Amino acid sequence: MPDRELPPGSTIGILGGGQLGRMLAMAAARLGLKAHIYSDEAEAPAFDVAAAKSVGSYGDGDAIAQFASCVDVVTCEFENVPAAALEAAARIVPVFPPAKSFAVAQDRLAEKDFVNGLGIPVAPYAPVDSLDDLRNALGRVRYPALLKTRRFGYDGKGQVPIRNEEDAVPALAAIGPVPALVEGIVPFECEVSVIVVRGQRGELQFYDPVENVHQGGILAISRAPARIAPALAVEARTIAGKIADALAHVGVLCVEMFARKGERPELIVNEFAPRVHNSGHWTLDACLISQFESHIRAISGWPLGETARHSDAVMTNLIGADVDRWRELAAEPDTAIHLYGKPEARQGRKMGHVTRLYPKS
Ligand code: AMP
Repeated sequence: MPDRELPPGSTIGILGGGQLGRMLAMAAARLGLKAHIYSDEAEAPAFDVAAAKSVGSYGDGDAIAQFASCVDVVTCEFENVPAAALEAAARIVPVFPPAKSFAVAQDRLAEKDFVNGLGIPVAPYAPVDSLDDLRNALGRVRYPALLKTRRFGYDGKGQVPIRNEEDAVPALAAIGPVPALVEGIVPFECEVSVIVVRGQRGELQFYDPVENVHQGGILAISRAPARIAPALAVEARTIAGKIADALAHVGVLCVEMFARKGERPELIVNEFAPRVHNSGHWTLDACLISQFESHIRAISGWPLGETARHSDAVMTNLIGADVDRWRELAAEPDTAIHLYGKPEARQGRKMGHVTRLYPKS
């Protein structure tokens, strides 16, 4: 028996109160576990479904410690949690995933170096702290390229395309005076992601690789399974497992990759998220045990459950005003609708998703 097995009735502390925290709390409830959500927002979507809530800043070590003292384990539903918050919690209770998973994923340069160091292909890249760096780096990574901030980029934010030499100065101005990196644009057949779950004893389970379509940098659609060659699907899992092992990760980890165009398609890792991920929402309806429950099981020291899919699925995000179609979507056959309870359908805001099920291929 693992030493950190949490029996039903235990409380999972979740840093972050967005839709991911909400779905984690619901998965915990299915297992008879309670969720206590800590968020810096007074009205967080996860509060509606949690047993307890705390509102405070992620920079307030005392408030985090107070929260940690009320729970049996702490996890996190967003990537950019300050290291100090994890440390404050870890002084009191176990924290999963480990701090290293967050530290590496929070910095695109550290992340690329880490993945590259494991012998896993990544796009050509170089750090950029000045115009000289950028000009030198462009000679190596070539055009077209992307200039990305090293930290706090998500949903396509914090990145600017560079098509030619003239774009260099405006691109640097657009991202501002922050540490950055430049990387070559990968001509891809499709984007793929894999969700791996790693337990406290290093056991691994994988969900089928999915194919993702982004619009304006935001995930629009995930199709399960990805329409890639079986050997590539195996390779995708191997890569995800290697990263999870190297981090000694515990919980769910999502690795996003490009299937590069070419005679022999190859997988290039773009980035990973040390948490449950939007491209895994389909698992709620097409698998016996979702990514959310898998995460809760792993951090609670439970046996990892079945990750096989029983149906094929296409998950579509409801972004901004898309959610106004809820009545029509709710009436569709073989379709599960999930709404996040957010009061205001701002442009670009993830309001919910639908998953359409198809017979297993
Ligand atoms: P990211 O913020 O790195 O997740 O990038 C958001 C989206 O931009 C990705 O899902 C891709 O669609 C696209 N993208 C990012 N980096 C590259 C790259 N090196 N080559 C091609 N497309 C990219």
